[in-house]
Amino acid sequence: MARLIADRPVLHMTSELGRVMAAARARERAGERVIHLERGEPDFDTPPHIVEALAKAARDGHTHYPEAHGELAFREVLVEKLSRENRITAHVDDVVVTAGGTHALYLAVQCLMSAGDELLLLSPHWMALPKLVGFAAGARYRTLPVYLELLAGAWSPAEFGARLRAALKPETKGIYLNTPNNPTGAVVSREHLSALAEVAIERDLWVLSDEAYEHLTYDGAQHVSLASLPGMAERTVSIFTMSKSYAMTGWRVGYAVSPPAMRPAMAPLLAFYTTHGVFPSAQLAARAAVSGPQDCVARMRSAYDERRRMLLAGLAGGVVQGPVPKGAFYVFANVAEARGQRDLWALVDEWLGFGVAALPGTAFGPEFGDWLRLSLATRAEDVAEGARRITQHAGRTSASGAPARTSAARA
Ligand code: PMP
Repeated sequence: MARLIADRPVLHMTSELGRVMAAARARERAGERVIHLERGEPDFDTPPHIVEALAKAARDGHTHYPEAHGELAFREVLVEKLSRENRITAHVDDVVVTAGGTHALYLAVQCLMSAGDELLLLSPHWMALPKLVGFAAGARYRTLPVYLELLAGAWSPAEFGARLRAALKPETKGIYLNTPNNPTGAVVSREHLSALAEVAIERDLWVLSDEAYEHLTYDGAQHVSLASLPGMAERTVSIFTMSKSYAMTGWRVGYAVSPPAMRPAMAPLLAFYTTHGVFPSAQLAARAAVSGPQDCVARMRSAYDERRRMLLAGLAGGVVQGPVPKGAFYVFANVAEARGQRDLWALVDEWLGFGVAALPGTAFGPEFGDWLRLSLATRAEDVAEGARRITQHAGRTSASGAPARTSAARA
């Protein structure tokens, strides 16, 4: 029998999210109701003016092969947006439209990493990164937990810089930064970003700056783009997406802004030969999203904010607690007490038993076996009901490791 999956390790990696979703679906098929707090998928519809722009662009004939870089009319609007909102000065030729943020990250990793190079993933990190590094032959990654400490205000900028310096190895070529952070909701301050920039310049590193949640910040937290800091534009690839800001996950439109030195490879080779571009009408609709009214973004942000408060209030007083997120749309909850001696997956199964699907923290780095990610990107009623079930059923475990309130947990 021919071997149909090659023995490259990346092709054999599994997905924790896929495993949770499959287990949740199996229960739903058996007639159980499951509250989905595992996925980062906005429940809002894409705003109507963006859908209209797609229809118009398609009617107007924007249905042919796209430009490798992306539609010029869209990139021009992005250059203005980057300057106005992100304080990033970019040339249109350095903006590449991609099939979502995931593809932008893929292109950046492919362009930047040679065999033997290491990417330092500040963690907890978005779960796609190990696979994206795995696709770059011979490239490696290591994790450095930082976001929970930054969210707690535990490290001064100098301390953060010192931690970064101490973690670097000769083979470390770059750092993956994600602010606002999925899953903790940490928003890295300008001062802390300056400390990172100082290290990157001193050690001649590049930085992959994932800003997928740029528009989702709370309690007055300010999103700052790393590439806007002195000396950083020439060593930073900034990644953006339409997915979260405009509830456009299915449209697959994102973009990368990279230094001019990457021009020869990013668009003509990597973007073109991986997707042959992005549907031009979808790009023109994305243009309408970026240049049109932004009240839809503000409305979704305040809905997430309300759900954030609702979930934290619902968990208050129980054994499951999470630090207050300042951005993105997740609560990263500490379940050490509820888990006891058990494997984290046993806890995930227990929660599915009382109808709550959550994503294990180990999806975001090996250090997070005491954590679960709870998503706010689901209906407010479900967030409230999820919190109610968690506080009611997620009991403290006994010293033996068995859940103390199993009967309630299965109720
Ligand atoms: N970065 C982060 C941190 C994310 O959470 C996501 C989506 N969950 C992405 C990038 C990519 O999103 P998309 O490909 O839909 O643009």
